[in-house]
Amino acid sequence: MYLATANVDLHCHSTVSDGVLAPSAVAERARAQGVEVWALTDHDEVGGLDQARSTAHDLGMQFINGVEISVTWAQKTIHIVGLNFDADNVQLRDGLAKTRSGRQRRAEDMSADLARVGIPNCYEGALKYVGNPDLISRAHFARYLVEIGVCPDVSSVFKSYLTEGHPGFVPHRWATLAEALKWITQAGGSAIVAHPGRYDLDLLKADVFFNEFKSLGGVGIEVVTGSHTPDQYEEYAKIAKQYNFLASRGSDFHAVEKGMLDLGQLPSLPKDLTPVWVTWTA
Ligand code: AMP
Ligand code: MN
Ligand code: MN
Ligand code: MN
Repeated sequence: MYLATANVDLHCHSTVSDGVLAPSAVAERARAQGVEVWALTDHDEVGGLDQARSTAHDLGMQFINGVEISVTWAQKTIHIVGLNFDADNVQLRDGLAKTRSGRQRRAEDMSADLARVGIPNCYEGALKYVGNPDLISRAHFARYLVEIGVCPDVSSVFKSYLTEGHPGFVPHRWATLAEALKWITQAGGSAIVAHPGRYDLDLLKADVFFNEFKSLGGVGIEVVTGSHTPDQYEEYAKIAKQYNFLASRGSDFHAVEKGMLDLGQLPSLPKDLTPVWVTWTA
């Protein structure tokens, strides 16, 4: 049984995707920051879970298997967090491998597009930050662009580069929503919409999306996340109630960085929501 009031952090990244700490170091940091129930949710990859779980248990922290799956829905990239699944499930593992497989080519195309505006060798530069050759992400490019002084920090990179309409952006087809939900639910997990405030969906599109997500077996949304403002905590608390969704809480920690949120430091979920973790047996 997981206590509703526990310090729970169900979204963060390690070097197995685009975080800067190894899974065991993320576990240590989570513990030091007071986290009691913790999930590692690397992008499209479960390869860090064994190390994360083992360190978490050594430190007396409860551990939940996690993953953040990249999905393309209505031409938009949407992230779906899977939690508390069987990480040995073959369909899930194969699906994630397929989702990862286009990243190499995409990175080369991103690099070519940056070279076009006079920033050469970004692929090689980004690779220096990559911990898992299967998982080269825009975050690695962003760190390299900061290193060479193109931008002062990672968040300003995404305002002028690597995003739609800017140099270094390469459209990509990720998993479908139906695939991601099938992989998570067939492995016994709970599917959650990651940082729903980040997708720029108008009300009508959002309604179509949440209904489709629900009909495919999705059970909840992140309400309190490092990607939401306090106003958005309220907004998505209302949406959780409206659609009868469970609520999740996660920092989306990637690195110790100025202005970025640390593990376990978010406010609690609004009291009138049902946390996803109370539906699991410890
Ligand atoms: P990718 O999966 O390769 O498209 O990369 C997505 C990752 O880039 C996210 O998981 C973040 O780590 C990072 N990212 C995207 N947008 C931003 C942003 N505005 N600020 C900081 N990091 C971002
Ligand atoms: Mn990331
Ligand atoms: Mn995300
Ligand atoms: Mn994330």
